[in-house]
Amino acid sequence: MTECHPIVKMEARGLNFYYGPVQALKEINIVIRVNQITALVGPSGCGKSTFLRVLNRTNELIPHTRTEGSVTLDGEDIYRPGTDVVALRQRVGMVFQRPNPFPKSIYENVAFGPKVLGMGSKDAIDEKVERSLKGAALWPEVSDRLYRNALGLTLGQQQRLCIARVLAVQPEVILMDEPCSALDPLATLKIEELMQELKKNYTIVIVTHNMQQAARTSDWTGFFLLGELIEYGPTGDIFTRPKDHRTENYVTGRYG
Ligand code: ADP
Repeated sequence: MTECHPIVKMEARGLNFYYGPVQALKEINIVIRVNQITALVGPSGCGKSTFLRVLNRTNELIPHTRTEGSVTLDGEDIYRPGTDVVALRQRVGMVFQRPNPFPKSIYENVAFGPKVLGMGSKDAIDEKVERSLKGAALWPEVSDRLYRNALGLTLGQQQRLCIARVLAVQPEVILMDEPCSALDPLATLKIEELMQELKKNYTIVIVTHNMQQAARTSDWTGFFLLGELIEYGPTGDIFTRPKDHRTENYVTGRYG
């Protein structure tokens, strides 16, 4: 695990988020470092998924919500008027708890994004599909069945397909919302190994309920409680010498 990495990919400052009258995020300040894995942990309902969705503005798809403060990507505020939200969501992709492939072929699932975005000829798209499936460590398992229905894959394969779908549009940041919660231990291990490969080229933010997963995979960990970011730092520090007693109680399993 890297102790220190100087380059900031995303940053939230004074971030508040509201669902109607309910404040779900309170004065969040956090720096997401490039080519690092940042894990967000904390009890259910503390705002982790909300925070993740703020990072690519998918929260705005929920009516009656409001965001205050700033969130930057490469130093540019993603909430400034005139931001191209489609381009933002291409740069900051998302993988969800339950794999959600379309009921179409493996090929079509991965080709969908590049086709919609007009990213080239059939040959160029074929090449992107292959590269993305290789990038998601799925190619050897599916290269001879690209035109079969994606729903015939195991859940673990489906989740790697969803990762390939994100890779196909060439993102910079990958948000993962409990990507292993529906998977068995072996499939989970594959995703964790894949994350270590992906971080060489992408910046990853993962929400996880699994403390071992956060400790094993991440470089930085943030502990959320009731909408606040209580503590944030190098993963080794958060797990072995937390500064706040609430962090300590949580990472040692005393509540949550
Ligand atoms: P976590 O990811 O830590 O489990 P969430 O971000 O899902 O937490 O939820 C944070 C708070 O926001 C909770 O109180 C939850 O009830 C509320 N919340 C989440 N999604 C919505 C929504 N779509 N509408 C209204 N409130 C929501």
